Amino acid sequence: MEPREERMAVNQTIFRAANEAIGRAGPDGTEQLELLCECGDRFCLESVEVPRDEYERVRSNPACFLLATGHETEGDRAEEERGGYVVATKVGRAREIALQRDPRADR
Ligand SMILES: [Zn+2]
Repeated sequence: MEPREERMAVNQTIFRAANEAIGRAGPDGTEQLELLCECGDRFCLESVEVPRDEYERVRSNPACFLLATGHETEGDRAEEERGGYVVATKVGRAREIALQRDPRADR
């Protein structure tokens, strides 16, 4: 894997951690979360609207990321396409990085 791709994989985990903070901050009754696209481009400003239960389901898999539609990169395998966003699983080295940085690993 190129250093650039590796950096993007790390960036994705940073966006994911930010989304974890957003998910926690919302009032419990909030059904729709407005999250950051987790594509790994640090200049990406897309946001994705995801139902809370869907977010929880995706986040329970540490190799899964939520991306704005069309923001998949080489390390992503798109699993599900929803309205405005894609659920993608990381593959290869990007997957290892994602798993190492699982924000829920110590819970
Ligand atoms: Zn993006």
